[in-house]
Amino acid sequence: MPLVTMRQLLDEASKGGYGVGAFNVNNLEQVQAIMMAASETNSPVIIQASSGARKYANDRFLYHLMLAATEVYPDIPVALHQDHGNGPATCKSAIDLGFTSVMMDGSLEEDGKTPADFEYNVRVTREVVEMAHEVGVTVEGELGTLGGIEDGHGSGEVSLTDPDQAVEFVERTGVDALAVAIGTSHGAYKFTKEPDREVLAMNIIEEINQKLPNTHLVMHGSSSVPKELVDIINEYGGEIRPTWGVPVHEIQEGIKHGVRKINVDTDLRLAATGAIRKAFNEDPGAFDPRFYLKPAREAMKEVVKARMEAFGQAGHAGDYEPLTLEEMAERYKKEGHQLTTG
Ligand SMILES: [Zn+2]
Repeated sequence: MPLVTMRQLLDEASKGGYGVGAFNVNNLEQVQAIMMAASETNSPVIIQASSGARKYANDRFLYHLMLAATEVYPDIPVALHQDHGNGPATCKSAIDLGFTSVMMDGSLEEDGKTPADFEYNVRVTREVVEMAHEVGVTVEGELGTLGGIEDGHGSGEVSLTDPDQAVEFVERTGVDALAVAIGTSHGAYKFTKEPDREVLAMNIIEEINQKLPNTHLVMHGSSSVPKELVDIINEYGGEIRPTWGVPVHEIQEGIKHGVRKINVDTDLRLAATGAIRKAFNEDPGAFDPRFYLKPAREAMKEVVKARMEAFGQAGHAGDYEPLTLEEMAERYKKEGHQLTTG
């Protein structure tokens, strides 16, 4: 199956009333774990790479790993997404490379750290939408900023998304999907106790969804940081402080209110680290990388499978034929950048 665009994947999710996990990759084992999970649960999937990942793995390696995923698993629709593009140039390089979706994060300036003003955000996002839609590629924008730092990206400050401003942003930019800030943050240390609806500002999602019922909403920083994964790391010599992530039932609540893409990265990192620590603890003399990477891959796969089932994407891989980028470009031309779900 050719790659699908994220727009089509999210339109289908919207029709089916489910959410789709977007999992970050840096290397072979992560790509494999995600695809094994998608195959075992028959799920469409978004694989995403941050600029940090593209640097770490080298663009070409990463892109071809992702492409290999679609060859090995021809029945699974896969969208390749640039996570947190810091400017039009980064987004363009992802599009040139073959990504079917890009995020232009204009909530921060190009340094990926300084909170940007609204007009800057509209301008750079609009620029990317014009460039991307021309060739059928999907665009995710972000309004408001998350806490935490991810791969050196993030201001560390939280500013929640304003629902009225979200309406103006979507109208002026024509984005396909909008990342909203509701108080979550990147990384493992999101909350110091289990967050409730107030802490998570779920009302913002509900309000934006009422005002923009046809916009696909995106939750970033949405790892759940399961205690059992943290416990394995600490049991085998790790030192992760007590921490809470976004509970899966809150994500499911978001899915009822228009959340279609859920970004998960930390949970896979925790699963891999725990499995590797455990493997070395059990056999300190081992030195074949496969000895510890295989259980790491298995542990990541189990987390991804659990999320795919919880988000509702499981079972939906065979629902549709992927549109080509040319077909999507045609559609955008007809729609005149209007955001309507299928
Ligand atoms: Zn993010």
